[in-house]
Amino acid sequence: MSWDALHEGQVTSVVGGQAQVGTQAFDNVAPATGQVTGTVGGADASQVAAAVAAADAAQDAWRAVPAETRADMLDALADRLEAHADVLAGWESRDTGKPVTLARTVDIPRAVHNFRFFAGAVRHDATGCHITRGQALNYTLRRPLGVVALITPWNLPLYLLSWKAAPALALGNTVVAKPSELTPTTASALAWLAQEAGLPAGVFNVVQGLGPEAGAALVEDPRVRGVSFTGGTATGRRIAQSAAPGLKKVSLELGGKNPSIVFADCDVEAALSGVVRAALSNQGQVCLCGSRVLVERSLLPRFVEGLEARFRALRVGDPSDPATEFGALISAPHRRKVEGYIALAGDEGGQVVCGGGRPTVPEALAGGFYIEPTLITGLAPDARTATEEIFGPVLTVHPFDTDAEALAYANATPYGLAASVWTQDLDRAHAMGRDLDAGMVWVNTWMLRDLRVPFGGLKDSGLGREGGTYSLDFFSEARNVCIAWRS
Ligand code: NDP
Repeated sequence: MSWDALHEGQVTSVVGGQAQVGTQAFDNVAPATGQVTGTVGGADASQVAAAVAAADAAQDAWRAVPAETRADMLDALADRLEAHADVLAGWESRDTGKPVTLARTVDIPRAVHNFRFFAGAVRHDATGCHITRGQALNYTLRRPLGVVALITPWNLPLYLLSWKAAPALALGNTVVAKPSELTPTTASALAWLAQEAGLPAGVFNVVQGLGPEAGAALVEDPRVRGVSFTGGTATGRRIAQSAAPGLKKVSLELGGKNPSIVFADCDVEAALSGVVRAALSNQGQVCLCGSRVLVERSLLPRFVEGLEARFRALRVGDPSDPATEFGALISAPHRRKVEGYIALAGDEGGQVVCGGGRPTVPEALAGGFYIEPTLITGLAPDARTATEEIFGPVLTVHPFDTDAEALAYANATPYGLAASVWTQDLDRAHAMGRDLDAGMVWVNTWMLRDLRVPFGGLKDSGLGREGGTYSLDFFSEARNVCIAWRS
């Protein structure tokens, strides 16, 4: 069992450099067809404990490896990801239902970039130094936390795992990763490639399995010193609770209901493209997706017309076709949830401008979890459909008359992850950047990422920040060394 088994759809945990055949087997289902593509060997609690033990045993030796050597290994891992990019993109598309072109141009290259970036970050990390006048020199060291748990969702499986694994490993932590049960393949693939890249056995382990069992056992294990989690807000709360008694460090990247705010003074064509991309990327299943658009009233008719034309023009269908722009949702229950919200929008007074149903697909895809890109107008800004996270391709449109009103609507949800603002007025852009309840505000763009900047959200969108030095801070403890001067 190894990398080759992945080609046959057999996914196992990877623990201490070996395949661990789980006791809790379950099917891997392709969202594009609804067909079973293979079997996942899910771990039970004792197998999770074995993975933590492997990581714990590898910890002392790994932290003793010079940072430069660890960085070289991460670069070697990035090279291997790049060499296998086509295969990895195929697996990612098969497990998630996302267009293979999206996986090949975004998910996999960004995973490669994450490893290269954090390899560079630890090579160039500088230590703080404080001189206590006439008495001492203080300098600050980063010490790895030890064993860290990385728990990731199904929407961007390798991309989000690499975002956490790269800084964790670069700093000398050992890792036990738990991918979503729905998208297991590329996490195990990463473990095999890490081994090829020279990471010693036990440094990077993957446990496959179900969240409430394998995931919960991992978070509760007393040897785990830090938990970096990306997923839903309710799960994040549970993880925070179970990590609290052990005083574990916790980073929570949770859900969002992000506004796109469009002022009449914007570049309308650019705003239309940006708002559509923000709403529908990955079938609307990105935490950063702009799922409600607030439009200055004078622009509303033109903007809705432009949105509708773009929604209708998207090529929906087989994710494995390189020309496809919009694939399937992750699962049948998730599609039911999204359809439930579309029905709720009708009850709340909304009008479906386009979409709302299931698209016609070829016979071979009839069992897949497809839904049309859906545009809804006429909802009150405080409607449930406009304030709760749907996590699907549903965009609600709301007019506003003043900047203050736009801001009030934008901030009136429990979430505070991201926002995008479309305007050519610099003062307005600064005011929005200052006053929006969001961890990330984009102006005249969406999801333009610089890995050095803080990533994370306010309110129900999470706790803590990752990215650049924020990730280095999370995955390490600062230790001060104070050396007295004899004078
Ligand atoms: P979930 O919260 O259901 O699951 C996320 C991960 O946690 C999965 O690996 C899951 O395993 C695991 N898990 C579930 N229950 C537990 C538990 N009790 N203890 C430990 N681990 C557990 O989220 P989804 O996978 O459904 O992802 C969608 C959510 O993720 C959305 O709300 C979205 O907004 C959010 N998200 C946030 C991002 C951000 O950066 N802020 C980025 C991407 C997504 P399993 O799959 O087996 O249940």
